[in-house]
Amino acid sequence: MSNEIVIETNTPGETFELGRSLGAKASKRDVYALVGDLGVGKTVFTQGLAAGLGITEPVNSPTFTIMQVYEEGRLPFFHFDVYRIGDVSEMDEIGYEEYFYSDGVCLIEWADLVKEIIPERHTRIEIQKDLQKGFDYRKITVTEFE
Ligand code: ADP
Ligand code: MG
Repeated sequence: MSNEIVIETNTPGETFELGRSLGAKASKRDVYALVGDLGVGKTVFTQGLAAGLGITEPVNSPTFTIMQVYEEGRLPFFHFDVYRIGDVSEMDEIGYEEYFYSDGVCLIEWADLVKEIIPERHTRIEIQKDLQKGFDYRKITVTEFE
């Protein structure tokens, strides 16, 4: 079963706010799978979600590691960016299951690159541009898979 909503934003701040509102409601074991091209706003959304969890330290895409942990919020937050992953087996190497099936919240940027390991129950966030609607326009589709 899935439930889909579409939100349109016109500034980075609006995308951040969407993330924040979801982060404020997030519960343990939630998994957010983010999909969309480079520069579309996945990290902006992630920063909002982290803020919604009560994380105040700066959140950026992990560059040298696949995953970054933030422990100061309401729940542990595991931020994955798998853009540079060569093979899904690299997720096994970092022991992803311990995080996906933990008492924290997981978010994976470029989740389609590791589709096969995304738990059935997850929230997919797809961000798309539409240049005809302006440079800063984003269409954000939020789908909850139960
Ligand atoms: P990604 O993580 O998807 O590669 P980033 O979040 O790092 O992308 O960057 C998104 C860029 O797009 C930022 O420079 C941000 O300011 C800009 N931007 C412009 N409009 C929006 C919007 N509506 N939502 C999110 N980001 C936007
Ligand atoms: Mg990013």
